[in-house]
Amino acid sequence: MQKTTPDQLAHFFALSLDLFCVADSDGYFRMLNDAWGRTLGYSLDELLAVPYINFVHPEDLNATVTVQQGLDDGLQVLDFENRYLTKDGNWRWLSWKAVPQADGTIYAVARDITSQKEDEKATEQLLIRLEQTNHELDQFAYIVSHDLKSPLRSILNLSQWIQEDLGEALTTEVAAHIALLQVRAGKMQQMIDDLLQYAKTGRNEKPVVEVDLNHLILEIQGVQQIPVGFRIEIPQPLLNVFGHPVELFQLFQNLISNAIKYRKSDMGFVSITQSDLGDYWRFEVADNGIGIDANHHQRIFEVFQRLHTSEEIDGTGIGLALVKKIIERMGGSIVVHSQKGSGATFSFTWPK
Ligand code: ADP
Repeated sequence: MQKTTPDQLAHFFALSLDLFCVADSDGYFRMLNDAWGRTLGYSLDELLAVPYINFVHPEDLNATVTVQQGLDDGLQVLDFENRYLTKDGNWRWLSWKAVPQADGTIYAVARDITSQKEDEKATEQLLIRLEQTNHELDQFAYIVSHDLKSPLRSILNLSQWIQEDLGEALTTEVAAHIALLQVRAGKMQQMIDDLLQYAKTGRNEKPVVEVDLNHLILEIQGVQQIPVGFRIEIPQPLLNVFGHPVELFQLFQNLISNAIKYRKSDMGFVSITQSDLGDYWRFEVADNGIGIDANHHQRIFEVFQRLHTSEEIDGTGIGLALVKKIIERMGGSIVVHSQKGSGATFSFTWPK
């Protein structure tokens, strides 16, 4: 192979998009490539005339001096970042690699990472705004549900008083209307309670703990009405996971109770399996129930979205929204695999 000539090296030096320099131990640049002029807007003479520290952003001065001292002591520098002043008064972020030489000079190369920094900042701000909006939404749902509860309670009380006041004068028709009013108001109360529950989820500041899911599912079986003939199957014992026990309880209870509610026959079952995906667990909660048409696979995870009326099957449409929120707040995700008429499998990931 041919040896690279000094001319060729000088050519590459001039062509490079990165900023190359040789600096003296007295704090001045001694040699710079053209990228310096293109990036910062000065002539090379202007850059060579003053100590390079003069171009550094005041907030980055201390760190730069520390790095400088390290170089003086013979230490290399990798990925050090600071801001340099441009001729038109702006700042450019530079990321440095520098190597001290035996003669006291420093060979260094810097990369302009300003646009990368701006992207990072924009993403960070977007995340903060998203977090704020989510928090405001939760707050809103929380306050509204609280405020709706007391007038609703008054409506229920008033309907009862009307019933009592009418006494003998209460016709069957009015009694039926009042009963209907009470059912509807009760339904609304349930929806408000569920919404409140939904808003509260994810506000949990407590640290996560190790949870025994086999025990948790036994607890769910203890509180859940399970029709005769319906089976809850756990083919392999489940391994412990980290999470908030109450939220894990709600998660599995909602999936199990849905499998029961939307069963096809009394010979229904739901099976819960767990597999190892490395950083995550995958859980599959599969039933042999009525199934869900592919058109609704997204919609069912939204708040108050139901595929059945309350007259057909009782519910408020918050269960799966809550399940999704619990999973996503932990950093997992959930999907459903199903076809109408042939069961449903809810598959979700849960970080280890
Ligand atoms: P709810 O059960 O109160 O209606 P969910 O949010 O739990 O609310 O479920 C939303 C809808 O998704 C339900 O109305 C139902 O139509 C459908 N669904 C949920 N789980 C199942 C299931 N295991 N099998 C079939 N359909 C289901």
